[in-house]
Amino acid sequence: MGDNTSYVLASQKRNRSDDFDGADAKKLMVQGEADPAAALASARHEFGEHGGVNMSIEASATFTVMEPETMRRMFAGELGPDRDFFIYSRHFNPTVLNLSRLMAALEGTEAAYCTASGMSAIAAVLLQLCSHGGHVVASRTLYGGTHALLSHFLPRTCQISTSFVEVTDLEMVDAAIVEGKTKVLYFESVSNPTLTVANIPELCHVAHRKGVTVVVDNTFAPMVLSPARLGADVVVHSISKFISGGADIIAGAVCGRAELVNAMMDLQQGAIMLLGPTMNAKVAFELSERIPHLGLRMKEHSERALEFARRLKNVGLRVIYPGLEDHPQHQLLKSIHNKEYGYGGLICVDMETEERANRFMSHLQNHGQFGFMAVSLGYYETLMSCSGSSTSSELTSEEKHLAGISPGLVRMSIGYIGTFEQKWSQLHKALATLHDCAYKS
Ligand SMILES: *Cc1c(COP(=O)(O)O)cnc(C)c1O
Repeated sequence: MGDNTSYVLASQKRNRSDDFDGADAKKLMVQGEADPAAALASARHEFGEHGGVNMSIEASATFTVMEPETMRRMFAGELGPDRDFFIYSRHFNPTVLNLSRLMAALEGTEAAYCTASGMSAIAAVLLQLCSHGGHVVASRTLYGGTHALLSHFLPRTCQISTSFVEVTDLEMVDAAIVEGKTKVLYFESVSNPTLTVANIPELCHVAHRKGVTVVVDNTFAPMVLSPARLGADVVVHSISKFISGGADIIAGAVCGRAELVNAMMDLQQGAIMLLGPTMNAKVAFELSERIPHLGLRMKEHSERALEFARRLKNVGLRVIYPGLEDHPQHQLLKSIHNKEYGYGGLICVDMETEERANRFMSHLQNHGQFGFMAVSLGYYETLMSCSGSSTSSELTSEEKHLAGISPGLVRMSIGYIGTFEQKWSQLHKALATLHDCAYKS
């Protein structure tokens, strides 16, 4: 490479950083918008290297500099990704950073960064916010992996202890917070699998009064709920679910203040930087192409879930769906959700016993072609699982009972493939077969 080329590259780099003035800074901060779709549309649009409408993938693990001094300044934290200076892709990567900006826009936070999985986002943020011996107050109804992390892994490895509480009981939450010791209040916006809706503004109020950081897992309700816009400090996601939508990628994100995200990238103290749950740039590109239609998908998931919930209830099944009037937090959700995206894409049907739940799912899959027996959610096909014996099996029977997880609870992530009436007729037929079997046996 000749000196000339070097000069051009160097000046381009300098120009770009000089260009970074107030206007760009404002663009990065545009996430003040109240509607997630509006915020996404006004987030910075990155073009490709050759003028492509899509960004180029920055697949490099490492980044070159023109002057050795630049390297020193990058490591000293004087030059960073905000001015287009990158060191190494376990630290900031341009393509992952672009997806992260979209995540920040979606959740209305100042910053965000994406990780290799939802669990790594959750673990990293808890380790960042809690020191050895710290205390967490958490909902007793959590994703099984998070529950295990809090009840087994963190106590053993870091003596971080957790008091599990009923999040719908604000007094219980308040009483569990130990001022000065409790670092984090952790809950899911819509809980897995019971679909309990958290009163985010009230819970934030209780926690903030005592200086506690509120971390909300919004995996079940992207677009539908915006926890940070309702007062939460940090929003974590398993991108593997609705945001991906393809059931083909494992990914996560931490959305919060720039100070937190930068702390998580700190060369000496950062949980993402030092534990290294890095997202690959190619994966980040793939995901950033799916975020623009997340809103459309969520609307369809929610609309169909509501109609299925109504009809299943009408045929006499015990249905749990926050969009139904009889759901204990229906009015709450109605008052805090982003109206256009409905009440979410998950419904639960309580079949009372595991045996009946299994028969129900098996009929729906094998006689009705209605959906698949599989864990996870947010796919275009309907996915069904019996929570007690699968994704919540980490909980003891007592914990499951307290969390309200009946042994026959079938969680259904409603897909949007096919026509609605086609899917309903498959469901209806499978139910009729199930009914006949029940009478024969
Ligand atoms: C799936 C899930 C997680 C874990 O995410 P991964 O991407 O599988 O690591 C965390 N929280 C909730 C609510 C989930 O559904």
